[in-house]
Amino acid sequence: MNYQNTIAFARDLDQQDSLQHFRAQFFIPPVNGRDSIYLCGNSLGLQPKTARAAVEQEFLDWQNLGVEGHFHGTNPWLHYHQYLEEKEARLVGAKNTEVVVMNNLTTNLHLMLVSFFQPTTDRYKIITEAGAFPSDQYALETQVKYHGLDPEEAIIELTPRPGEYTLHPDDILATIREHGHQLALIMMGGINYYTGQVFDMAAITKAGHEAGAYVGFDLAHAAGNILLNLHDWQVDFAVWCTYKYLNSGPGGVSGTFVHEKHGNNPKLPRYGGWWGHNQEERFQMRKGFKPMPGAAGWQLSNASIFPMAIHKASLDIFDAATMPALRRKSEMLTGYLEYLINDMAAPKEIIEIITPTEPDRRGCQLSLLVHQQGRQVFDRLTQAGVILDWREPNVIRVAPTPLYNTFEDVYLFAEILRQSLAV
Ligand SMILES: *Cc1c(COP(=O)(O)O)cnc(C)c1O
Repeated sequence: MNYQNTIAFARDLDQQDSLQHFRAQFFIPPVNGRDSIYLCGNSLGLQPKTARAAVEQEFLDWQNLGVEGHFHGTNPWLHYHQYLEEKEARLVGAKNTEVVVMNNLTTNLHLMLVSFFQPTTDRYKIITEAGAFPSDQYALETQVKYHGLDPEEAIIELTPRPGEYTLHPDDILATIREHGHQLALIMMGGINYYTGQVFDMAAITKAGHEAGAYVGFDLAHAAGNILLNLHDWQVDFAVWCTYKYLNSGPGGVSGTFVHEKHGNNPKLPRYGGWWGHNQEERFQMRKGFKPMPGAAGWQLSNASIFPMAIHKASLDIFDAATMPALRRKSEMLTGYLEYLINDMAAPKEIIEIITPTEPDRRGCQLSLLVHQQGRQVFDRLTQAGVILDWREPNVIRVAPTPLYNTFEDVYLFAEILRQSLAV
């Protein structure tokens, strides 16, 4: 694509954008009486205008029906997780029975580790990416300790080559082969939250399985951002949150994927709860846990209706927009952002993009390493009405999302960035 560094060009792309009407379905937070330039959907997605009414409906059913809402509500609460299944599955490339929405992300990661990290004396190592999101690091560290192992020995971190910021795909596969015979699990992000690098989940899963290990991904930054094909890739398990790209509100519910080859295996160790128990017998309240088939068998507690109502409203929007169309726009939007930043011709000593340049190795986010006065630059951007996010020590993450961001947003951001850097 031949981009141009003018606002007229940006507006022209917006005119041609077949997804442009989706922006009006979201509340754009105002700053100083005007729409902000919101480039922070990687951290907290914006509120769909339909979210409030969806929650209101559940309030009304509770108000009017009390406990009967479980059976006679507009969306009977008893089966709530099922209303999300089909659209959630489409989002991540899974079969309906392979996904369930429940709990929060880190909780679900622990539940998956209970099932898929069963170390033996010979096989006890976990491969993960260095600098993974802290919650993932802590989950792995404490699970390893729970099994009486030393994290220093059991957790193998993939690190970039000296002087580089992202991982070479070959290095990942080589590390898997190197530790293969001792490897119990590969658990890493589908996209690294800091650099925005997308990992080749199909290749990693294949290599992991060849080594005899399970393979799972944290898709917090991937769900609703890139195209996923978890079933075909043979991924064993995955977890994601819904409040980032999936716009389902702060602390929103989490998605979990368990491949069908494991979903009907009652022998797989797991933590049980009554909501994962065979539905027909659940209210007989008898002894002996019999999990429901599929990912639903990992449920513990009755569904959190209010956050799930928001998520349901949000999934409807994704389903209308479709991931392939969103991804096509996303590549153009992020490509435009990259073009504009490169067009500033700022020296590498001032600012550099650490996210890979190949579109299939990144999602919508670009991570900018600001070498000089990073925090001041970030503060200037904030004062000018740009909402984005700052990660210590000196990274600004910029995430134009195809659902509600425009090419004009990207153009205006780049213009304000240029002024803030004074290049
Ligand atoms: C956002 C994020 C989390 C957050 O975990 P919660 O349990 O939802 O608080 C965890 N891991 C990754 C990779 C994330 O990006």
